[in-house]
Amino acid sequence: MLTVHRFSCLSDNYGFLARDEATGATAAIDTPDAEAILKELDRLGWTLTLILNTHWHPDHAGGNAALQAATGAKAYGPAEVQKLAVLDRVLVGGDTVMLGETTLEVMETGGHTLGHISYWDQADNIVFVGDTLFALGCGRMFEGDPDQFWTSLSRLAALPDETAVYCAHEYTAANARFALSVDDAPAVVIRAREVFEARERGEPTVPTSIGAEKAANPFLRAPLLAPELEPAQAFAKIRAAKDVFKG
Ligand code: ZN
Ligand code: FE
Repeated sequence: MLTVHRFSCLSDNYGFLARDEATGATAAIDTPDAEAILKELDRLGWTLTLILNTHWHPDHAGGNAALQAATGAKAYGPAEVQKLAVLDRVLVGGDTVMLGETTLEVMETGGHTLGHISYWDQADNIVFVGDTLFALGCGRMFEGDPDQFWTSLSRLAALPDETAVYCAHEYTAANARFALSVDDAPAVVIRAREVFEARERGEPTVPTSIGAEKAANPFLRAPLLAPELEPAQAFAKIRAAKDVFKG
């Protein structure tokens, strides 16, 4: 059984601490801000044993060195993280990571960066997706191509609907404005209103769920929004529109 603690850090990142209740083993999913993570660990009385990186960007792996120095935790992640941090174990899609008694499956979800991975806890219906999938959005396609990114999003969309999706940024209100500009499906209109109201109240919109994203996320719905195109090309079209959207 995994308990996930979410907290805000940097300008719009979420930090996640995941604790295996059976053993107390605790992982930081990415290291946006070492100081903030140490403060949360202290407040909760949790001891960090593992760092699990999703990709190499500084707001995801930039705190590795400081956290390892402070806690002695091991760091696992995709090879690309070694551009800026030392890894104790390099992970690839299909690997499994044990956090105490909890099994995390490594999923290849490249596209935002080439080597981006996600961590799926099937038993608890939880997935940590970094910057691949956002609530009503997806990461920018910095390194990958449409085929790779679409394959990654399809892989995530194939998880059970009830899977809780922990994405690494609170971008949802801006994503909702874009979604409304390309998709007037009732599910999108209703969801956007919920998002605006939640943000108005200062509430987080993360985690979301696979089912909620399949119903309203314009990137997962790309083949329906541009049925004249191959799915990966439909995705590319929506992604390109978002890149220049000023909402
Ligand atoms: Zn990123
Ligand atoms: Fe990021």
